[in-house]
Amino acid sequence: MSYKAARKWQDIFLFGGGIVATIGAWGLKSDFVALAGLFMVLLSVLVWWLYYRCPQCHESLGRGNPKHCPHCGAWLGDEPEPEEKKKVQHKKKKR
Ligand SMILES: [Zn+2]
Repeated sequence: MSYKAARKWQDIFLFGGGIVATIGAWGLKSDFVALAGLFMVLLSVLVWWLYYRCPQCHESLGRGNPKHCPHCGAWLGDEPEPEEKKKVQHKKKKR
């Protein structure tokens, strides 16, 4: 699983699980549905922990949606890396 897929699935499991748990606990008053929702939230954490990692250095990317790997600086944005910013970064590295 790529880090982009992991980012999507962790959101789906987190919000989906939260909704299922809320409906199960207060709407349906069903322990099973509430636990299934909690299980989805746990799955979200698991997906994040196992798969939300940098494709270059395989370090965890932490919470949120970083454009660059916090460890090695690899580009992680959805769009291609902007050429201008690339040049600026290279200049900074030389200094
Ligand atoms: Zn990295």
